[in-house]
Amino acid sequence: MLIPAPDLLPASVRAFVERHGREPSWRASAPGRVNLVGEHTDYLGGLCLPVALGHRTWVVAAPRTDSRVHLTSGDALEWSGDTSHLTGSPLRGWASYVVGALRAVGWQGGLDLHVESSVPVGAGLSSSAALICAVVTAVTERSPDDLLRAALEAEQVHVGAPTGGMDQTVSLLARPAHALLLDFAGGGLPAGRPVPWSPERDGVELLVVDTGVRHANDDGAFARRRAEAEAAMALSPDEVVAARDPLPRRRRHVDSENDRVRRVVAAVERHDWTEVGALFTASHVSLRDDHEVSCVELDAVVEAARTAGALGARMTGGGFGGCAVVLVPTTQRDRVVARVSAAARAAGHPEPSFLPGEAGGPATRHRAAGPSHVDLSQAQ
Ligand code: ADP
Ligand code: MG
Repeated sequence: MLIPAPDLLPASVRAFVERHGREPSWRASAPGRVNLVGEHTDYLGGLCLPVALGHRTWVVAAPRTDSRVHLTSGDALEWSGDTSHLTGSPLRGWASYVVGALRAVGWQGGLDLHVESSVPVGAGLSSSAALICAVVTAVTERSPDDLLRAALEAEQVHVGAPTGGMDQTVSLLARPAHALLLDFAGGGLPAGRPVPWSPERDGVELLVVDTGVRHANDDGAFARRRAEAEAAMALSPDEVVAARDPLPRRRRHVDSENDRVRRVVAAVERHDWTEVGALFTASHVSLRDDHEVSCVELDAVVEAARTAGALGARMTGGGFGGCAVVLVPTTQRDRVVARVSAAARAAGHPEPSFLPGEAGGPATRHRAAGPSHVDLSQAQ
């Protein structure tokens, strides 16, 4: 019923050998992520609390002696260019994420590279950062901070996506069984405070529900919301009161959401899962009504999950589709899954899928050993 996180390293190596005709020199993987709370706050100097998922993106690669850059992903995607693409104007499409990551680490020379992933694409689980972080981890050996700077540059500058810093930070710096509290105040890169996150030990689970509805970062809605929120955050308290709708609501979302992050961390630390659930639901209401980034499919998941026995639920990620997170007692999990599916069917929405929300580890390099010797100590 839940889609388990697979180990795609053996499949990645096999695909590399088939499509590039030799063994890869480097193997790495990086996790997708889900944000527990603190949505639309990272780019406003606020707080967020992501966890890395077990679902990951795997990158295997080998340098070439000529100037060809040959990229493949899954069964269907292929891109071929040469080193002239490593400078100059930005590319478009999926290859821009890989080439952007290569540019950001200053890669020079030809390269063969293959990607396999179990992170749903465009679902708000940050398949983009997982891909970029896996690439930078595969092709260079640098400190996590240097890799983070490169991963941010790749997505913000070379891909040109309007993302904050949450996705890359957690993909590179996560700790298993921990969430990462990130504070973007001051504009720099946050160090992140690991917050122990193992609700399973208390009989409670995090469930990730993918609505199957896909957002598009470039449809303008995300950028518009970001601009409104930035304008609202620049106002003084008096100006907020006098400002025209929707600015006061945007401001209220950001201020209340930052407060909820602090309260969720405190509740997690005292294992008060009822309170964590209630704060999740309050966050959803704020994102739905004040920030207006939810959609009917996400609202339906949250409503069905709550009435079926979840402690709380909320949309997660940028919104306009994608995923919700549900905090649910393990004893109620199957019931919640069944009721969320039934509600989607009854409403004529796409069939949702369900992923485990257990907190996984950061981007990591894997030794070039047989599958039974794969170093997953950091990845699990
Ligand atoms: P999200 O990060 O929420 O999944 P984005 O729109 O930010 O959504 O990034 C999705 C894009 O990242 C895809 O459209 C594709 O270009 C690229 N991408 C992500 N994963 C892969 C992959 N495994 N193979 C090829 N491209 C990928
Ligand atoms: Mg993304």
